[in-house]
Amino acid sequence: MSDQTTISIPTDDDGFISQKCPTCSGLFKVKHGEGSDKPLAHCPYCGAAGDDWFTDEQRAYIEAAGRNFALDLVSSELEEMTRDFNREMPRGGFITAEMSFTPSPEEPLPPVPAESNEPMPVALFECCNERIKHDGSSEVLHCVICGTASKA
Ligand SMILES: [Zn+2]
Ligand SMILES: [Zn+2]
Repeated sequence: MSDQTTISIPTDDDGFISQKCPTCSGLFKVKHGEGSDKPLAHCPYCGAAGDDWFTDEQRAYIEAAGRNFALDLVSSELEEMTRDFNREMPRGGFITAEMSFTPSPEEPLPPVPAESNEPMPVALFECCNERIKHDGSSEVLHCVICGTASKA
């Protein structure tokens, strides 16, 4: 049990991670920590603006890991309360009480989302120097940073 939980999601062999547009459900991949230092703000296919691009698998994994993390925090607080309470009971007095606390088992995490290495076309948005992998189905791609449309 620790105060810090790191949730990591694997990338593909090229360092890209899958993202999903909540508006058109299009899947694409971005590489964090390279290219633009601005956050992903537009879907490359439909151009919709947004700030949450997790795939369903990533979301399920992160939410479950987050719940376990919250449970950890609650558990340690309750344990501390239990210790304090037991310490403060007068010894040899008439009243004795004891609190005990059993942490509930953590829910098992869903599998870490797998990242496939299926070859995908790569597009570079020169306006923001941002590279993505896309599914090749769209003739026009929007820059995922600034939203500018260009031919794929
Ligand atoms: Zn979209
Ligand atoms: Zn741009």
